[in-house]
Amino acid sequence: MKLIVLGSSSSGNCYILDNGKEALIIEAGIRFQEVKKALDFNLRKVVGCVVTHAHNDHAKYIKAMVDSGFHTLALREVWTAKGVWDSRSLVVKEGKGYKMGNFKILPFPACHDVPCVGYLIVEEDLKGNGFDVIVFVPSYDEDNGLITCGNAILSGKVPTSSYQETIY
Ligand SMILES: [Zn+2]
Repeated sequence: MKLIVLGSSSSGNCYILDNGKEALIIEAGIRFQEVKKALDFNLRKVVGCVVTHAHNDHAKYIKAMVDSGFHTLALREVWTAKGVWDSRSLVVKEGKGYKMGNFKILPFPACHDVPCVGYLIVEEDLKGNGFDVIVFVPSYDEDNGLITCGNAILSGKVPTSSYQETIY
Protein backbone atom coordinates (compact mmCIF):
# COMPACT_ATOMS: atom_id res chain seq x y z
CA MET A 1 0.00 0.00 0.00
CA LYS A 2 1.26 3.42 -0.96
CA LEU A 3 0.03 6.65 0.55
CA ILE A 4 0.68 9.43 -1.93
CA VAL A 5 0.43 12.91 -0.42
CA LEU A 6 -0.30 15.47 -3.13
CA GLY A 7 -1.00 18.22 -0.64
CA SER A 8 -1.62 18.65 3.06
CA SER A 9 -2.07 22.34 3.81
CA SER A 10 -4.40 25.27 3.23
CA SER A 11 -3.08 25.47 -0.33
CA GLY A 12 -4.72 22.14 -1.09
CA ASN A 13 -5.31 18.68 0.34
CA CYS A 14 -5.30 15.41 -1.54
CA TYR A 15 -4.08 11.90 -0.77
CA ILE A 16 -4.17 8.69 -2.74
CA LEU A 17 -4.19 5.28 -1.07
CA ASP A 18 -2.94 2.91 -3.77
CA ASN A 19 -2.58 -0.84 -3.23
CA GLY A 20 -1.41 -1.40 -6.81
CA LYS A 21 -4.77 -2.70 -8.03
CA GLU A 22 -7.12 -0.13 -6.53
CA ALA A 23 -6.78 3.48 -5.51
CA LEU A 24 -8.89 5.61 -3.20
CA ILE A 25 -8.65 9.40 -3.38
CA ILE A 26 -9.03 11.32 -0.14
CA GLU A 27 -9.92 15.02 -0.58
CA ALA A 28 -10.32 16.94 -3.83
CA GLY A 29 -8.31 20.09 -3.14
CA ILE A 30 -5.57 19.62 -5.74
CA ARG A 31 -5.83 20.24 -9.50
CA PHE A 32 -7.13 17.13 -11.19
CA GLN A 33 -4.20 17.10 -13.62
CA GLU A 34 -1.88 16.53 -10.63
CA VAL A 35 -4.07 13.67 -9.42
CA LYS A 36 -3.98 12.01 -12.84
CA LYS A 37 -0.22 12.33 -13.01
CA ALA A 38 0.15 10.75 -9.55
CA LEU A 39 -1.96 7.82 -10.80
CA ASP A 40 0.23 7.46 -13.91
CA PHE A 41 -2.95 8.33 -15.83
CA ASN A 42 -4.43 4.94 -14.86
CA LEU A 43 -7.84 6.21 -13.79
CA ARG A 44 -9.46 2.80 -14.09
CA LYS A 45 -8.02 1.69 -10.77
CA VAL A 46 -9.73 4.50 -8.88
CA VAL A 47 -12.56 3.01 -6.80
CA GLY A 48 -13.77 6.32 -5.40
CA CYS A 49 -13.10 9.59 -3.66
CA VAL A 50 -14.00 10.86 -0.19
CA VAL A 51 -14.15 14.52 0.86
CA THR A 52 -14.30 15.75 4.47
CA HIS A 53 -15.84 19.23 4.09
CA ALA A 54 -16.68 22.03 1.68
CA HIS A 55 -13.66 24.33 2.05
CA ASN A 56 -11.91 24.80 -1.26
CA ASP A 57 -8.61 23.38 -0.09
CA HIS A 58 -10.49 20.08 0.34
CA ALA A 59 -13.32 20.22 -2.20
CA LYS A 60 -12.49 22.70 -4.99
CA TYR A 61 -12.11 19.97 -7.61
CA ILE A 62 -14.93 17.68 -6.47
CA LYS A 63 -16.75 18.21 -9.80
CA ALA A 64 -13.72 16.90 -11.67
CA MET A 65 -13.94 13.73 -9.57
CA VAL A 66 -17.54 12.93 -10.47
CA ASP A 67 -17.03 14.09 -14.07
CA SER A 68 -14.19 11.56 -14.26
CA GLY A 69 -16.59 8.81 -13.28
CA PHE A 70 -15.51 8.43 -9.66
CA HIS A 71 -18.12 7.71 -7.01
CA THR A 72 -17.49 10.47 -4.50
CA LEU A 73 -18.64 10.54 -0.89
CA ALA A 74 -19.27 13.83 0.93
CA LEU A 75 -21.75 15.50 3.26
CA ARG A 76 -24.92 16.90 1.71
CA GLU A 77 -23.63 20.40 2.65
CA VAL A 78 -20.56 19.85 0.45
CA TRP A 79 -22.61 18.89 -2.62
CA THR A 80 -24.94 21.84 -2.01
CA ALA A 81 -22.05 24.28 -1.54
CA LYS A 82 -20.40 23.13 -4.75
CA GLY A 83 -23.65 22.83 -6.71
CA VAL A 84 -22.66 19.37 -7.90
CA TRP A 85 -25.37 16.73 -8.14
CA ASP A 86 -24.62 13.65 -10.13
CA SER A 87 -25.47 9.97 -9.94
CA ARG A 88 -21.96 9.57 -8.54
CA SER A 89 -22.51 12.16 -5.77
CA LEU A 90 -22.88 9.98 -2.69
CA VAL A 91 -24.26 11.64 0.43
CA VAL A 92 -22.79 10.65 3.80
CA LYS A 93 -25.51 9.19 6.00
CA GLU A 94 -24.99 9.20 9.73
CA GLY A 95 -23.87 5.86 11.13
CA LYS A 96 -23.40 4.27 7.69
CA GLY A 97 -20.28 2.55 6.46
CA TYR A 98 -19.36 2.31 2.80
CA LYS A 99 -17.33 0.02 0.64
CA MET A 100 -15.41 1.31 -2.36
CA GLY A 101 -13.57 -1.57 -4.00
CA ASN A 102 -11.85 -3.31 -1.11
CA PHE A 103 -11.68 -0.16 0.99
CA LYS A 104 -14.08 -0.10 3.92
CA ILE A 105 -14.89 3.48 4.82
CA LEU A 106 -16.56 4.76 7.96
CA PRO A 107 -17.34 8.49 8.09
CA PHE A 108 -17.58 10.02 11.58
CA PRO A 109 -18.47 13.53 12.77
CA ALA A 110 -15.43 15.81 13.08
CA CYS A 111 -14.91 19.23 14.61
CA HIS A 112 -14.43 22.17 12.25
CA ASP A 113 -16.05 25.55 11.55
CA VAL A 114 -18.28 24.04 8.85
CA PRO A 115 -20.04 20.64 8.77
CA CYS A 116 -17.28 18.09 8.56
CA VAL A 117 -16.54 14.38 8.77
CA GLY A 118 -13.39 12.37 9.24
CA TYR A 119 -12.92 9.02 7.51
CA LEU A 120 -11.75 5.77 9.06
CA ILE A 121 -10.46 3.42 6.39
CA VAL A 122 -9.81 -0.31 6.64
CA GLU A 123 -8.15 -2.28 3.88
CA GLU A 124 -6.39 -5.65 4.01
CA ASP A 125 -3.20 -4.44 2.40
CA LEU A 126 -2.78 -1.78 5.08
CA LYS A 127 -2.00 -4.59 7.50
CA GLY A 128 1.12 -5.45 5.55
CA ASN A 129 2.25 -1.94 6.37
CA GLY A 130 1.53 -2.36 10.07
CA PHE A 131 -1.75 -0.47 10.12
CA ASP A 132 -5.11 -1.91 11.09
CA VAL A 133 -6.87 1.28 10.19
CA ILE A 134 -6.01 4.69 8.83
CA VAL A 135 -7.95 7.83 9.72
CA PHE A 136 -8.14 11.14 7.90
CA VAL A 137 -9.51 14.06 9.85
CA PRO A 138 -9.14 17.82 9.37
CA SER A 139 -6.52 18.94 11.83
CA TYR A 140 -7.11 21.15 14.81
CA ASP A 141 -4.38 23.38 16.16
CA GLU A 142 -4.58 22.63 19.86
CA ASP A 143 -1.80 24.98 20.96
CA ASN A 144 -3.46 28.08 19.55
CA GLY A 145 -7.05 26.95 19.81
CA LEU A 146 -7.34 27.39 16.07
CA ILE A 147 -8.98 25.19 13.53
CA THR A 148 -6.55 24.50 10.75
CA CYS A 149 -7.39 23.22 7.35
CA GLY A 150 -4.90 20.47 6.57
CA ASN A 151 -5.49 16.83 7.44
CA ALA A 152 -4.13 14.71 10.21
CA ILE A 153 -3.45 11.09 9.35
CA LEU A 154 -3.72 8.75 12.29
CA SER A 155 -3.53 5.02 12.59
CA GLY A 156 -4.63 2.50 15.15
CA LYS A 157 -6.81 -0.48 15.90
CA VAL A 158 -10.16 -1.17 14.32
CA PRO A 159 -12.85 -0.08 16.78
CA THR A 160 -14.87 -2.93 18.21
CA SER A 161 -18.23 -1.39 17.31
CA SER A 162 -19.59 -2.82 14.11
CA TYR A 163 -21.04 -0.76 11.31
CA GLN A 164 -23.34 -1.32 8.40
CA GLU A 165 -21.92 -1.55 4.97
CA THR A 166 -23.46 -0.16 1.86
CA ILE A 167 -22.21 -1.78 -1.28
CA TYR A 168 -23.18 -0.25 -4.54
ZN1 LIG B 1 -11.50 23.65 6.36
